[in-house]
Amino acid sequence: MATVGDVQVHEGHWIGGERVASPATFDDVSPIDERVIARIARGGADEAARAVRAAAKAFPAWARTSREERARLLHAIADGVEKRLEQLAIVETTDNGALLRSHLRGVMPRVAHNFRFFADWLLDLGHDDFETRGHRNHVSWDPAGVCALITPWNAPLMLATWKIAPALAAGDTVVLKPAEWSPLTASLLADITAEAGLPDGVFNVVQGYGEEAGAALVADPEVRRISFTGSVPTARHISRAAAANLTPLSLELGGKSPLVVFADGDLDLAVNLAVEQYDNAGQVCLAGTRLLVEEGVAAEFTERFVTRAATLRQGDPRDLATDLGPQIHREHFDRIDGFVRRAGEAGATALIGGGPNTDLGGLYYRPTLFTGAAADSEIVNEEVFGPVLTLQTFRTEEEAVRLANSTKFGLAATLVTGSPERAERVTGRLVAGTVWVNCFFVRDLRAPFGGARQSGVGREGGNWSFDFYCDVKNAVFAPGGWNG
Ligand code: NAD
Repeated sequence: MATVGDVQVHEGHWIGGERVASPATFDDVSPIDERVIARIARGGADEAARAVRAAAKAFPAWARTSREERARLLHAIADGVEKRLEQLAIVETTDNGALLRSHLRGVMPRVAHNFRFFADWLLDLGHDDFETRGHRNHVSWDPAGVCALITPWNAPLMLATWKIAPALAAGDTVVLKPAEWSPLTASLLADITAEAGLPDGVFNVVQGYGEEAGAALVADPEVRRISFTGSVPTARHISRAAAANLTPLSLELGGKSPLVVFADGDLDLAVNLAVEQYDNAGQVCLAGTRLLVEEGVAAEFTERFVTRAATLRQGDPRDLATDLGPQIHREHFDRIDGFVRRAGEAGATALIGGGPNTDLGGLYYRPTLFTGAAADSEIVNEEVFGPVLTLQTFRTEEEAVRLANSTKFGLAATLVTGSPERAERVTGRLVAGTVWVNCFFVRDLRAPFGGARQSGVGREGGNWSFDFYCDVKNAVFAPGGWNG
């Protein structure tokens, strides 16, 4: 057991309704001060296999459990999340360095909402029957089996429950492998599911490194679905493992999204949205890290952006006044710094930031904005996943669209414009899973979520989640009575 804040967190796996240890452990380090806060069980092939067996054993009964009862249990889990909201928030902040303010006000309430939303959606899930020459067609969403869910560290519990909730609602059983840099709230969620009365084995957690526990899990032939959120290189490994068993995959990956500012748009709004891209110290997949600004307003935009960014308060994420916390881990910090140094060497200019925050030390990196980077340079095309933005200018709408669509990614795009016609036109031409017009990060669980190009494969959200987590079946009933 680790004590984080004053919260007790189990350091073991959660398999078949029991805490399970491993012969080895790994250190879980807080990004706030780089101190070891827990020694987590280091799972491997044995623990992954044991968890899949526990989930497979629990599957038939859970799949037969009525929709109403499944929905009731999901709401009970949401109640548990709400009851422990402050504990979850402080543990998540200590573990991954994201703002306590955000966890309390936005993230943890959304975790509870993930369960409530899919519970309610399940009760309405259906398709009207239809006839073919007097035969009745009936479509059903059947539970598929064991789901392996693999999640990243930047929004651990929110992203995990975005998969866990629809999978459990669908009647599937789950093995979650959380990221090794932020494993703690998954362990608390296991306690919450047990307290809610979820049957043993329906939800399992295997802790460990991706290359060990994660790789074993996705290669298991008893796994019927793999849902992964993380980086493109890992997605390639997982896709290869899934190919061996033809396991259906959902991949939510990285991005290098554009934020396009037209001269006819509200410049104050544009500046606010641009500064928002530093949220979570830039560790947000959807972040619009490429600022594309129409030439006529670029100087004014830049001046206002620099003034506004200077007001951001960087520091301890537990302080509710802090705007920007630390990066997740020393390895990731060094990776970000490498991108920044190479951008400088390649001729880009850091208008703000450009290095670590030496006043704070540790893992605090200054919010950075580059101008003058070449269109084909690394800093403009690769995902940094840190507080690093680039600014490019364009002259025409055509050029804006071309620049916006110029990377290998297609996760999201944000437009600022005062013209509804332009908004329609440009939105239609952008390659992106989500487009925001004069807003950012408005998310509705009914909407499809995913990425184009290398930002992902498949969509989750609303019916799209059930299409993925279920075996969708069409049954055709012949006309007439049953006795010939
Ligand atoms: P990552 O790919 O390094 O790790 C993600 C998860 O995969 C971790 O749990 C890790 O242990 C596991 N893993 C690693 N190797 C594995 C293997 N061989 N087999 C099975 N599992 C393995 O990603 P990360 O650094 O944790 O997260 C950052 C990335 O996630 C960024 O690219 C970011 O854009 C992306 N992301 C995408 C979304 C989205 O919704 N599209 C959301 C958040 C983050």
